[in-house]
Amino acid sequence: MDCENTRLTQQRKVVLEELKKTTAHPTADELYEVVRKRLPNISLGTVYRNLEILSACGEILKLDLGEGKKRFDARMDPHYHLRCTQCGRVFDIPYVPLDKEIEERLQGVNHFKVTGIQIHFDGICEECLKKMN
Ligand SMILES: [Zn+2]
Ligand SMILES: [Zn+2]
Repeated sequence: MDCENTRLTQQRKVVLEELKKTTAHPTADELYEVVRKRLPNISLGTVYRNLEILSACGEILKLDLGEGKKRFDARMDPHYHLRCTQCGRVFDIPYVPLDKEIEERLQGVNHFKVTGIQIHFDGICEECLKKMN
């Protein structure tokens, strides 16, 4: 895909703007509900396609947290994710560099060069913990 010349269409611009406004790591369906308020004629398929293009071009992150659905994130600085197994919300947590030993070991595996990293942790968020008590 030629990302340099990929024109930022009005629809793609709105999709990107709305994703940047949220820290909720929405799915395509969830973002569609928001984008639709600004562009009533947009289809779910168009939102989905634009999200795929934006992630393929490195504008946004596509996250697979093992839920059987993809989430999207406009935050591009390195960070990890915490997923609450009770309410399903996903939180950002600061990036902690892997220790050198792990990184070196990874580089040694089949001469694999690590270019990106996505780590997520499962747990229970503060609000859900309170409800449980
Ligand atoms: Zn929770
Ligand atoms: Zn994130």
